[in-house]
Amino acid sequence: MPPTALEKNKDKSTTFDLEAKVRQYGEQLFAQMDAAEPPSLFSKKGFYGTVMDWSMRDEHFKTQLFRFVDVLPTLTSSSEVGKHLKEYLGDDEVKLSPALRVGLKAAGGMSWLFGSGIKAQVTGMARQFMLGDDNKEIVATLKKLNEQEIAFTVDILGETVVSEAEADQYAKRYLDLMDLLAREVSKWSRPCQSNESPRGRLPALNVSVKISALYSQIQPTDPDTAINRISVRLRPILRRAKELGAFINFDMESYVLKDLTLQLFKTIFAESEFASGPTCGLAMQAYLKDCEGDLRDLLDWAREHKRRITVRLVKGAYWDYETIIAQQRHWSIPVFAHKAETDANFEKLSLLLLENDRIIDAAFGSHNVRSIAHVLAQAERLGVARRNFEFQMLYGMADPIKAAVLAMDCRLREYCPVGELLPGMAYLVRRLLENTSNEGFLANKFAKDTSRDALLRNPSDLARIPAPQDSTPDARTFVNEPHIDFTLPREREKIRAALQRLRQNLGNRHPLVINNKPVSTADWLPSLNPANQTEIIGYAAQASVAEADSALASARTAQPKWARTPAAERAAILEKVAALMRRDKADLCALEILEAGKNWPEADADVAEAIDFCNFYAAVMRDLGRPKRTQVVAGESNLQHWWPRGIGVIIAPWNFPLAILTGMASAAIVAGNAIIIKPSDQTPVIGARLMELLIEAGLPAGVANLLTGPGGKVGAHLVSHPQIDFIAFTGSKEVGLRIWESAGRTAPGQANLKKVVCEMGGKNCVIVDSDADMDEAVVGCIASAFGYQGQKCSALSRLIVLEDNYDKFVERLIAAAGSLPIGPGEQAGNVIGPVIARDAEQRILGIIEAGKKEAKLAWQGTVPNDANACYVPPTIFTEVPSTSRLFREEIFGPVLAVSKAKDFDQAIELANESEFALTGGCYSRSPVNIERIKNELVCGNLYINRTITGAIVERHPFGGFKMSGGGTKAGGREYLVNFLVPRVVTENCIRRGFAPVEESQGMRRELA
Ligand SMILES: Cc1cc2nc3c(=O)[nH]c(=O)nc-3n(C[C@H](O)[C@H](O)[C@H](O)COP(=O)(O)OP(=O)(O)OC[C@H]3O[C@@H](n4cnc5c(N)ncnc54)[C@H](O)[C@@H]3O)c2cc1C
Repeated sequence: MPPTALEKNKDKSTTFDLEAKVRQYGEQLFAQMDAAEPPSLFSKKGFYGTVMDWSMRDEHFKTQLFRFVDVLPTLTSSSEVGKHLKEYLGDDEVKLSPALRVGLKAAGGMSWLFGSGIKAQVTGMARQFMLGDDNKEIVATLKKLNEQEIAFTVDILGETVVSEAEADQYAKRYLDLMDLLAREVSKWSRPCQSNESPRGRLPALNVSVKISALYSQIQPTDPDTAINRISVRLRPILRRAKELGAFINFDMESYVLKDLTLQLFKTIFAESEFASGPTCGLAMQAYLKDCEGDLRDLLDWAREHKRRITVRLVKGAYWDYETIIAQQRHWSIPVFAHKAETDANFEKLSLLLLENDRIIDAAFGSHNVRSIAHVLAQAERLGVARRNFEFQMLYGMADPIKAAVLAMDCRLREYCPVGELLPGMAYLVRRLLENTSNEGFLANKFAKDTSRDALLRNPSDLARIPAPQDSTPDARTFVNEPHIDFTLPREREKIRAALQRLRQNLGNRHPLVINNKPVSTADWLPSLNPANQTEIIGYAAQASVAEADSALASARTAQPKWARTPAAERAAILEKVAALMRRDKADLCALEILEAGKNWPEADADVAEAIDFCNFYAAVMRDLGRPKRTQVVAGESNLQHWWPRGIGVIIAPWNFPLAILTGMASAAIVAGNAIIIKPSDQTPVIGARLMELLIEAGLPAGVANLLTGPGGKVGAHLVSHPQIDFIAFTGSKEVGLRIWESAGRTAPGQANLKKVVCEMGGKNCVIVDSDADMDEAVVGCIASAFGYQGQKCSALSRLIVLEDNYDKFVERLIAAAGSLPIGPGEQAGNVIGPVIARDAEQRILGIIEAGKKEAKLAWQGTVPNDANACYVPPTIFTEVPSTSRLFREEIFGPVLAVSKAKDFDQAIELANESEFALTGGCYSRSPVNIERIKNELVCGNLYINRTITGAIVERHPFGGFKMSGGGTKAGGREYLVNFLVPRVVTENCIRRGFAPVEESQGMRRELA
């Protein structure tokens, strides 16, 4: 075989001064750009120029402006527009920098912005980046590009699909658009030069697809189903593309979808029908640390399948999002920390693409002159013909750079988003952020007059700054347990293997544990799998009153010594429990899945929370264990410290079978108390497992005793027992009130006033304002209402929607609910599973039946036809009057009551019409309404613009008041105090007129 240009140039490359060449091309590009008009966004004149200029000069203004832009399309009346504009950018709200204030004055004050045309102005701004939804306009714009020798790729705006119906619509819009454009393009008199490659003519019709819009239920736990479902909608698009000779590109979205996108690409284009067409490609993001590995894999795939694909190398559009989300989840951050590292990686990968010019077609998506010049220089060094590859840029961005690239005889393609403005807002905001980013090339070039020298600097020189290490937590600082990243195959495999292991070990007997010894009983209660009532998870011993007394005696014997054990030692045992739970995470998840009917992520969240409780309460106790001075005064020492309360009973529910049980038990134990643990009858095996872990961690005998058995008898006996000092209870209002009352009666000989730590239910409400982000509100409300089948005390059960939005919102809500996968939690990907037990199923079905007489049954899901499982179809009632049972009573199942409010006042009034006060929420983009909700909604945990479930230890101390509980906050710093009594020790340190030296020194230190 004759040597390729690439090979021939290998020798040359040793003498090639790459940096000099990059500079030379950079200067040429700049010179060409100078001849063109600067982009209007950076003109500093007119509406766009001025607001962009202000945005770059004042971060706060920028945030407020972009938030306003985000909400604007949903505002239907000019009064609403005016109201929001004032709320976001009114003089009182915006704390402008002094420089901007001067500029503003010169422009005639903020009223300049308040002109009636603001919506038109912002729409016009959006039009700069999007082609709109008018077919004629779309065709005209693309034709104009064609005449300018600029090729195109079209993308349909609308990244969030909340239901399968919306995914269908999205797929259909692609088919329609392709038909339209194929027809029109065929009429154009001459082909676009940017589609002329030395390897032949490229398809004029080039389409970019966001795969997330083709399936509404992508679950990280179940990529296979996602791939199947997306493929079903994708195949007709690929088929049509093949018929029309079109090119299909997959865009790359957020990191959670990255592996899925790659996998889908490789599987679908290997199918025999698509193995030879359509021509295809995908985007790769250089800001990802693992991009190089993925790209090399893709090259192997292309080589193996002899498929010439196009790789569009971009830097990546979701840097802030990826960074924030990873930080929130305590996952390692997938993107580079420094912009220069991304730039350097882009250059490294550009080289890799050019080196593989024989296998793939490279497309470089960048508006950065340095990045572009580097591609040109490397291509020259390697002898890759300049028209073998193409540059791609976004419609409406960086026009002078486009002109320069064309002038240098390069091929250029524009990425042209089409569609309605509303779904396009996320895209617009991304573009505005990109144009105003302090680090971005565009702002530096066009707004900040950064020198050419600086703009052309080699990013590798700058990238050598060491990246900040993922902070290794100080051993004593609490860090939340990360949730499992189910996108990783090895993590999914662990759960699958654990389920298999558990299946081989079901049906065991779980005795009581008293004084760390197993105690068998005459009766044994089977614990059944909610998804299969013929499957016995295990048998729980059934304690009688005699065994309850024996457990109490054991706790009383153990408690004094345990109380004297240093707090740090007690804390260390909890930390050991946490470590053991982490070791057994997959097995504990499997147990939750089979015994409590949880799906994978819900099971994982419960285990993670249990780990958090242990570590967090250990950290808090270490601190509380050190006596604190109350006040520093000469000659007297005043120290406050804490003593344990004594003996307690822990009565836990089944809905968070490990977390709540562990939370209450670990708080009591670490505080120096001894306890009797009474897990729920529905999840006793999980309770038994916790007991085993406590013993394994080294908890001394008698400090915790496990007592499974009938709550009505054994539990009630203990609650009313005079030797019990406290009760920690989480469960229904009915039982909670009984405990509260019983504990309030002082029996003869009782040593202490009993403390009751009581968490009961809720009738939690979310308000959806008329300006809410519907995509987020629909998804968040569905998750809050139907997550774990509505069996969380924090679950959403009353939804109040403002009337402007009501019809559209309810329609989307129902469509979204109807798209949820329903089935056993064991099967990865199922969102809705069975309710906990047969009696719960019957009770909830009864409430639904009765509800039909009170409100309109708007929708009911279809559950698997499985007589062995306890399914309740998820149900939505609308037109629910506030007087109805549906609106007032806790259901603890997948039933959502929706009501309409005429305005925000009425919505708050309705929301507060409840005897409960646990969680609450609001979706709104009005700063004034958000402030009102913060002040007026009566609940213990208020969530704004997010789901109302999923509290995280320390971050969201959790608990309600009114009939929801005693106002304690599980997972908060003050929680432990419930299990302690405070003492203050005052000592007069003066002896015959002098204070001991160490006293005075200590004091002097403190005073300093
Ligand atoms: C035709 C085309 C198609 C595109 N398709 C996609 C796509 O499918 N998926 C996608 O995600 N994006 C896509 N993009 C968007 C693209 O990622 C951004 O436009 C691009 O990152 C901007 O890079 P630049 O070289 O033009 O600008 P520059 O200003 O040189 O680079 C900006 C980029 O640097 C990175 N960055 C910024 N700050 C930091 C930091 N502190 N640390 C590390 N990195 C940082 C970010 O990626 C940021 O976008 C596409 C762009 C084009 C032109």
